[in-house]
Amino acid sequence: MNPVRLHNTLGRRLSELTPLEPGHVRLYTCGPTVYDVVHIGNLRTFVFEDVLRRHLLAKGYRVTQIMNLTDVDDKTIRGAQGEGVSLPEFTAKYEEAFFRDIGRLNVQPAEGYPKATDHVPEMIALIETLRERGHTYESEGSVYFRIATFPDYGKLSRIDLTQTRRGERVAEDEYEKEDVKDFALWKGGKPGEPSWPSPFGAGRPGWHIECSAMSMKFLGRHFDIHTGAVDNIFPHHENEIAQSEAATGEPFVEIWLHAEHLLVEGEKMSKSKGNFYTLDDVLARRDDTAALRYLFFSVPYRRKLNFTWDALAGAAAAVDRIRSAAARIGEVAASGTAKAGAFDARGRGEKFLADFTAAMDDDLNTSEALGALFPYLREVNLAIDEGSLDAAEAVAALGAIRSADRVLGVLPAKIEVLPAEVEARIEARNAARKRRDFAEADRIRAELAAAGILLEDGPSGTRWKKA
Ligand SMILES: [Zn+2]
Repeated sequence: MNPVRLHNTLGRRLSELTPLEPGHVRLYTCGPTVYDVVHIGNLRTFVFEDVLRRHLLAKGYRVTQIMNLTDVDDKTIRGAQGEGVSLPEFTAKYEEAFFRDIGRLNVQPAEGYPKATDHVPEMIALIETLRERGHTYESEGSVYFRIATFPDYGKLSRIDLTQTRRGERVAEDEYEKEDVKDFALWKGGKPGEPSWPSPFGAGRPGWHIECSAMSMKFLGRHFDIHTGAVDNIFPHHENEIAQSEAATGEPFVEIWLHAEHLLVEGEKMSKSKGNFYTLDDVLARRDDTAALRYLFFSVPYRRKLNFTWDALAGAAAAVDRIRSAAARIGEVAASGTAKAGAFDARGRGEKFLADFTAAMDDDLNTSEALGALFPYLREVNLAIDEGSLDAAEAVAALGAIRSADRVLGVLPAKIEVLPAEVEARIEARNAARKRRDFAEADRIRAELAAAGILLEDGPSGTRWKKA
């Protein structure tokens, strides 16, 4: 088996995936903060992680993926206060919305979705270890991580540490690169905020410690892959590394992967610009979740993705081509016809799958992988037009396309097949066109249209779809 190579943010280099436990990849994917409905930028990251997961499974690895739900932090507390409801009541509806959204995008479920509020004792234990090892100090009821005690601080984000001054603190969960400061592990309780008892007094965990505690609980102190979006690199992931490695004295994660931003019509998404979309916003205008999923993975994860309505229409057309081809091949597969010297769909399919997998092994180069798929569909379509594909070869072709779709996830579970007589009419029309009997060809086209089958003639042969 060829190795999977991934662009590791830690060291900015290609790293070959060698699972610490042979054959088993342990993967942590930062989950949503359940204070609002996720936007399509978040969803692009979740689809990237799903494609990664599916590719690893297709390679034969066992995968344990853990995705946290941040249900206590600055944003969730502010939201609950704003609505005058309890924190669990507030976060429950966004949790539900999150699972609904990823389900609609055909994202496979992770092995676990731990919630921060269910793991406060683990976070407290981790902070105690850091305290015992001399990495913390307390101030006004809160506990801070002293970054000067961790010489590797900054190794992931490569931030400039020369500007930092000893003892400067930041209490917020999210802050800018200019604020390279000691950060809060535990925040002293405030009136009206949820709090938990702890050896450092009542309070609540900081955001960063949540991911360190939950990832190490479920995946071990040292695991294979940790992912997120580029804006998680600093401070969130930098702080996770500092907390975890300072506590264990071991390396935390082998490979860090980060998905680039999504732009809308070339601009940064923002509520004030009116270009801020949730999944429901997109589906209200184009009710096609497979098209959106396709658009997300059509651009490799380390490149910015520009969301436009035209690009979404293009993605819908691409999904349509894959589905129509699969349905047409499925029909030949079901026909049972055997032909001597049939088109070698099996041999070509093996070559296509090898190219597809090699592209995915190369840091999940999805655009190159799709670049292998479409020529293959075209060849098989042409073979059907010419009547040179037989049933056994069609079964093999369908198997190759299904294998690719284990990663892509855009084909329906059951492929719709055309009635054999309709396929026969398409063949008759192709024959009429060959002998330049266009009146007959048009007559058959109209007859099929009346039956709800639309034909489209292109350089790669005739495609059909249901009206
Ligand atoms: Zn996280």
